[in-house]
Amino acid sequence: MKNPKKNVTAFVFDNVLPQPWLSREIRKKRIHRRIIKIIKEIIEKELRSLGISGTPVLKTRQIHLLPSSTYRRIFGERTLGFHNPMTDGIYINVGGLSIVELIFLITHEIVHHKSFHRYIYDAISDELHWQRTGYANASIKNDNEYFDLLNEAITEAITNGVLLRNQVSIMKKLGVSESQWKIGHAYYAYPKSVSLLDDIVKRAADHSGYKAVEIWKKIKIGYFTGNMMHLRVIEKVLGRGFLRSLASLDIKIIETKEMSAILRFLERINH
Ligand SMILES: [Zn+2]
Repeated sequence: MKNPKKNVTAFVFDNVLPQPWLSREIRKKRIHRRIIKIIKEIIEKELRSLGISGTPVLKTRQIHLLPSSTYRRIFGERTLGFHNPMTDGIYINVGGLSIVELIFLITHEIVHHKSFHRYIYDAISDELHWQRTGYANASIKNDNEYFDLLNEAITEAITNGVLLRNQVSIMKKLGVSESQWKIGHAYYAYPKSVSLLDDIVKRAADHSGYKAVEIWKKIKIGYFTGNMMHLRVIEKVLGRGFLRSLASLDIKIIETKEMSAILRFLERINH
């Protein structure tokens, strides 16, 4: 196998799991196709600036726009978008979203799609499972996930960075006004996790010889390439056990807690 990662991804996508509810998929309008095209271009630009090439190519048909009722029935109420590493499909609840909200949501899910993926074959059940997407790790049966908070925070921080840097040209291309952008931007996934990530990067910079932007760049490259060596630097400066504590943080709990409680958590592990 010349490029196992690529082959496995192709295998997964070509053997799509049964998804009968896809018959409810909404046909993409011209505006949807334009949004997807623009986002794909700016993400490719971001990857080039990080010196990354060869990430999986996303086909527009891998993005499924679903009515709210179908989305909620399949994926629940907690999210509006989802990337399934096993089908490599992106599922979006389009019900009632503005263009700008859609831009943020679709960008977030495409960033997930572009992240490093690793799969594992379980001979006992004769099934393929995802083991890693970006920074998130799963146990073989996917019933336990680790680093999901870190992974979502990084996904959202990359999303925001890419959109902010290209905001003017996106607004121009799609005819979005400043006020529409402002209102749409209020849609912000995992705000507490992102601010926790920000804090971690700042603290790591304060305690090491690196600048915060350098650490953030290494984190981004690791997200797309699977190279995690820099995490050791972060662990070294933030204390032993830091990564283990971070791995076990549950994003569902963190996002419902007060920020002060999260900062107390950081103080505790940061002795
Ligand atoms: Zn996400």
